[in-house]
Amino acid sequence: MTAPKKVTTDNGAPISDPETIQRIGSDGPLVLHDTNLIETLAHFNREFIPPRNPHAVGSGAFGEFIYDTDISDVCSAALFSEVGLRTPCLTRFSTVAGDRGSADTVRDVCGFSTKFYTKEGNLDWVFNNTPVFFVNNPIKFPQFIHTQRPNSKNLPDFEQFWLFFCENAQESLHQVMVLFSNRGTPYSYKNMNGYSGHTYVWTNSKGEKHYVQVHLKTDHGIKNFTNEEAVKTCGENPLHRQIDLHDSIASKNYPSWTVSVQVMSFEEASKLPFSVFDITKVWPHDKFPLRRIGKLVLNENPTNYFAQVEQAAFSPANMIPYMEASNDPMLVARLLSYPDAHRARLGKNYSQIPVNCPYKTRAYNPLHRDGKMQMDNFGSDPRYFSTLENYEFDTKTQFLKNLNKGAKFNNNQIVEWKHELSDIDFVQPAQLWKVLGKTPGEQKALIHNVASHLQNASPTTQDKVCKWFNKANVEIGTGIKLEIAKLQRSSKL
Ligand code: NDP
Repeated sequence: MTAPKKVTTDNGAPISDPETIQRIGSDGPLVLHDTNLIETLAHFNREFIPPRNPHAVGSGAFGEFIYDTDISDVCSAALFSEVGLRTPCLTRFSTVAGDRGSADTVRDVCGFSTKFYTKEGNLDWVFNNTPVFFVNNPIKFPQFIHTQRPNSKNLPDFEQFWLFFCENAQESLHQVMVLFSNRGTPYSYKNMNGYSGHTYVWTNSKGEKHYVQVHLKTDHGIKNFTNEEAVKTCGENPLHRQIDLHDSIASKNYPSWTVSVQVMSFEEASKLPFSVFDITKVWPHDKFPLRRIGKLVLNENPTNYFAQVEQAAFSPANMIPYMEASNDPMLVARLLSYPDAHRARLGKNYSQIPVNCPYKTRAYNPLHRDGKMQMDNFGSDPRYFSTLENYEFDTKTQFLKNLNKGAKFNNNQIVEWKHELSDIDFVQPAQLWKVLGKTPGEQKALIHNVASHLQNASPTTQDKVCKWFNKANVEIGTGIKLEIAKLQRSSKL
């Protein structure tokens, strides 16, 4: 038996009885002298921290990345320094739109974020379970998220979702088709893939740069709920995916993914029919085949959800030498907005919270000091870089200064940019419709899933939406209209 733990107040003074309070006589008023009661209630009032906005609902686990297949011709980052190297990591899965406490099996994109604790600092992959996204322009992101949420009267509003879609359909159609396919309701986190979606720039030790996209393919097979199963599970077991993740690890059925990359030269990128920085497009597998690099295995449940998952702060800005962001506008905006969100949610010293600490190395920068909840203020070190010889700088970081060097852009002018609409936007949605046709029932499911949601919008909006789907394939919009009519007939019976 372990020794009993001595209970104290926050200042370490012993407590005689945690359930005793002080009052004047057994019916009398409480007294302010009872600092233990005051402290206990004050703590309770402050237990919640601001939720993530979005991605508030999440589940996490620790594990490792096992680098098993050489990629040194493309990237020399620390986690690829030696085949066989195991890098510890933390992964957090999430839904996007729901408030904290909402069910985790709603139809939604799922976040798939991993923090790798490498000896050259923490690397975060802040990915999703879909290879594309709804918009490719970051100024649209806040309004897109607003359309997913209750409206100004705090009422569900399906119309706003579909009206936003109609205004942005050329960017959104591809992702909306993925979301309303059965992949929009994964059975569990271990039964879905993860994708960088964004294009990254990786560099090898010779300084040669390539564009890459990262894919994490589940080793457990894709398994999805149908629309109706997902809705039912939301009510019956709102923590279904959280429990599945926990129980899989507890029973040693460790969730794992095969990690691969698609690699593209800058030359190849300049010949693409779309921009390599457009997150609404995938890189065709036949032209850019997957190259395996390793495995991600989750094998340890957190022991304290708040400390290890709720306080975890993932950011695409957490990069390590030989890995950079490309000029994807969505990615570049996230470099700013994620650390900003963490400063707002956890405080400016959030990277000192144990789960966020780069514990395989040591964070040292005497300019980054002071502020609330500072745990390590660099002792008596000067508050500036006094004599440069006293410090060690690593020339590898010069790669970061050469951001995207060698890539050719149309011009070097500052321009006012919006996605230029073209028919190429409908090519991949049309391909996806054909991909779905290879699995019995998948096309029908997409039509049914959209109809189940869209039936709640106005008839005018329904017509507009169907016209957009018809641009991918006339069977889709036409099918959705028929399915809505069918659903409405059966609800009247
Ligand atoms: P391929 O025919 O080579 O690959 C099709 C891909 O579609 C599969 O590899 C699989 O991705 C994905 N897929 C299979 N079934 C479903 C489904 N039910 N719902 C959603 N995705 C599914 O084609 P391309 O690379 O030329 O891409 C064709 C279309 O496939 C794209 O327009 C895109 O919509 C979709 N897709 C492509 C991906 C890519 O990275 N190229 C990734 C995911 C989807 P996976 O192997 O990753 O499971």
